[in-house]
Amino acid sequence: MMLKNVSSERISTMGESIFTTMSKLAFEKNAVNLGQGFPDFDGYAMIFESAYRAMKEGKNQYAPSPGIKSLRDVISEVNSNHYGIAYNPDTEITITAGATEGLYCVMQAFLNTGDEAILFEPYYDAHYADVILAGGIPKFVTLHKPDFSFTQEELEQSITPKTKLIVLNSPHNPTGKVFSQVELEMIAKIAIKHDLLVVSDEVYEFLTFDAVKHVPIAKLEGMKERCITISSTGKTFGSTGWKIGYVCAAKELTDAIRKVHQWTTFAVNTPAQHAMADAFGTLDTYLPDFRALYQSKRDLLFNALKGTEYKPYLPEGSYFMMIDVPKKFDGDVDAAMRLVSEFGVAVIPPSVFYSKSSEGNTLLRLCFAKKDETLIKGAENLIKAINS
Ligand code: PMP
Ligand code: GLN
Repeated sequence: MMLKNVSSERISTMGESIFTTMSKLAFEKNAVNLGQGFPDFDGYAMIFESAYRAMKEGKNQYAPSPGIKSLRDVISEVNSNHYGIAYNPDTEITITAGATEGLYCVMQAFLNTGDEAILFEPYYDAHYADVILAGGIPKFVTLHKPDFSFTQEELEQSITPKTKLIVLNSPHNPTGKVFSQVELEMIAKIAIKHDLLVVSDEVYEFLTFDAVKHVPIAKLEGMKERCITISSTGKTFGSTGWKIGYVCAAKELTDAIRKVHQWTTFAVNTPAQHAMADAFGTLDTYLPDFRALYQSKRDLLFNALKGTEYKPYLPEGSYFMMIDVPKKFDGDVDAAMRLVSEFGVAVIPPSVFYSKSSEGNTLLRLCFAKKDETLIKGAENLIKAINS
């Protein structure tokens, strides 16, 4: 007998993630993958030796639920040295299975059924899903082309008595926008005025280009106590498959997040945590080359497409770049499907990251965390597509 309605209502509208879909298609069609966001090269080499050493030293059993102390200590130091924000490593930092688990725990910890969460669109798909999984209701503020800006009025108008939190992601996936000081102040002012939490996804915190600087919103006056900041060593050390993320927040907020984390994964991979603690210990010597590498990749892809109908939008941060959909295609989904099947290059159609505006139909997202040869081949295939 067939089981009927086995899945919960909460997940009834959820499909496969666009990243999975496009990576599968890229593989099937043997296309260059500029879609899913992950480097196609190894990240920081020292973590391999370091993880192996930890394993040989017998660091192979459960870590403490909040994460190993040395990793929490060094994350605290990094926050204090880079941003001047003091997080107590014992009570205000939690290591999670990637930023993904951190985000899930945060939404479960703070949203009641019917609570509203403000998302800037295009949003990162997990932000939307995590709000839904927690029984919350997402509300949207559109970041408008060409500079992906919003107004104070638009943000203010999205707030209702049911609003519980604002989700911020800077540097931003998928646009590459880095929110300006003025925009951060606007968000902070509204959060304080309406007594809201801010969930700040800063996984690309160390990937900003030219003179652009990342400022955590928690640094702004009155924000630390209402801000939950999430980051990921997967981005910082180029190892997305290791899934070591972390959440920094004031003690009262961390207490709630740790309750969910305790029942989600309890603790995350021990040797990988040791490796990341060692990697953070050398962050300041690592970062200049890391940034220069990604900036050169951004420039390579941007210059290859500049002056074409793709009109690339120069990202200030993250490892993503938006381009326009050329006229020959019927919107972003048609373009993405035809580019992967007919022209050998996988991209992400960003309309799936919009719920309110149709601006996403006119854009495509490219990931430039790829070997130069991948970027060159991908750009060639994109250009062939408009010239064919
Ligand atoms: N937030 C954003 C904005 C991301 O782009 C990603 C992944 N690329 C994540 C969270 C998830 O990070 P992790 O792989 O550490 O789970
Ligand atoms: N964050 C990555 C991206 O934006 C994908 C991560 C995933 O597939 N879950 O492409």
